[in-house]
Amino acid sequence: MFQPEFESMPRSELRKLQLQRLKATLDRITSHNPFYAEKLTGLSSRDITDLEDIQKFPLMTKDDLRIGYPYKYACADQREFMRMHMSSGTTGTPIINPYTPHDIRQWGNIMARCYAAAGIGEHDVVQITPSFGLFNGGFGFHYGAETLKAMIIPIGAGRTLLQLQFIKDFNVTAITAIASYPLRLTEVAKKENFDFRSTKLRVGIFGAEVWSDEMRKRIEDEMGIETFDIIGMTETGGVGLGIDCKAHSGIHVWEDDYLLEIINPETGEVLGEGQEGEMVVTTLNREGLPLIRYRTRDVTSIITTGKCICGRTSLRVNRLKGRNDDMLKIKGVNFYPQQLESTLMKHAEIGNHYQIVLEKAKGRDTMTVMIETKAEVNSNLSKEIDTEIYDRLGFHVDKLDFLPEGTLPRTPGKAVRVVDKRS
Ligand code: ZN
Repeated sequence: MFQPEFESMPRSELRKLQLQRLKATLDRITSHNPFYAEKLTGLSSRDITDLEDIQKFPLMTKDDLRIGYPYKYACADQREFMRMHMSSGTTGTPIINPYTPHDIRQWGNIMARCYAAAGIGEHDVVQITPSFGLFNGGFGFHYGAETLKAMIIPIGAGRTLLQLQFIKDFNVTAITAIASYPLRLTEVAKKENFDFRSTKLRVGIFGAEVWSDEMRKRIEDEMGIETFDIIGMTETGGVGLGIDCKAHSGIHVWEDDYLLEIINPETGEVLGEGQEGEMVVTTLNREGLPLIRYRTRDVTSIITTGKCICGRTSLRVNRLKGRNDDMLKIKGVNFYPQQLESTLMKHAEIGNHYQIVLEKAKGRDTMTVMIETKAEVNSNLSKEIDTEIYDRLGFHVDKLDFLPEGTLPRTPGKAVRVVDKRS
């Protein structure tokens, strides 16, 4: 543990700390930002006597923050800001998060906890492959590793051959990446006869995209490493909201800094343990952009608030299933690309890259899945996959298009899993 006083705090004490920090956060909003205070519909810290009272407050959305661009929700003076990050959204007005010196320290601490949960310490060599810039990934991993005093290789995105060379030459023990980047690394490694098992690399921390358990297993097998799933986003203060520990039994959320709720996205009703819904986050230790009941659009459920075998007392959530926005609707069925990925990746003949193409033909939706293959896919296997998809999703894909490895475009940054040509 990096901050054992918070990570192993008995839950009753943790709840007290959360309540105290929630009130302080609300007081900060009231005293710093009348516009934001008004958005809370007249409610303030006076209306909070226990944590459940948070449910009286209105929910905040991405659109609120977009409309609030750049500083409408900021709760510090511009002179106090040291840095900003911006959401990786591709269209429309961006969402920005301004950081005070306190916020940067808070980020460094939770990221250091994430590294520690993955078994990384000051003698490790960490290669950071997300980009350094407006996207929060590169800097988040940087602050955390710096807080731990580990050695950092801030290589950033791309340059895959150099990445491989550095892993070997600098005895890299841990690599951090957007979840689909390891697929690129293993692909190039294979071409170059690069053997990860002959290096010191033992840990991978991956996030920013949804990656199925099956994809995870492949990455672990191909790279010979143990992987950890990290969550977080620009709005909450960057990557590092939580991570799974070595027990791999759910993602620990750092509850002293974040109050988490799961809601029914249709009704806003707060759901209990085990019920799947949208993750809503209230920040408890942020100055620049404190959030009250922010709808993340991430779909998950609380597994347990019970103590983990690692000794951490924070609640654990399931690995994210997708964002509400990622949900596809075809033939009257709602599903997440990750569900399809799980089905495909079970077969050794299937490669690591696939793409779902949705089109409209003669007034009806059609779905083609382009799938790269490692070995020949005969008609039996093709039928088997079709049946499995039907069993899982409840409809037949119009076309399964099996392609040689390397056919689909490789993009820098997040992988393009869905091409929707319907509108
Ligand atoms: Zn644990």
